[in-house]
Amino acid sequence: MEDGCVELKRARRRRLTTNAIERQKRIVKDTRGRSPTDQPHRYAKMHALSCGIPGCPACSNPRRVWRQRTLQERREFQKGE
Ligand SMILES: [Zn+2]
Repeated sequence: MEDGCVELKRARRRRLTTNAIERQKRIVKDTRGRSPTDQPHRYAKMHALSCGIPGCPACSNPRRVWRQRTLQERREFQKGE
């Protein structure tokens, strides 16, 4: 891999991370009406509206927590019977 290519990839990664952080900061501002946390870099790894508790039934994906099937899976399941 060429050096210039590595620089481009790094720049792209940093830009995407910054964009994600800015998006989460906007979400906090719009939904909670207050300024984002004093540690916005945490939004690089975590969504703004997630409480941070793994497996929390309120913010987790219901497919994972309650083992619900998607519409497509249900349709496929009914076909099999
Ligand atoms: Zn939660």
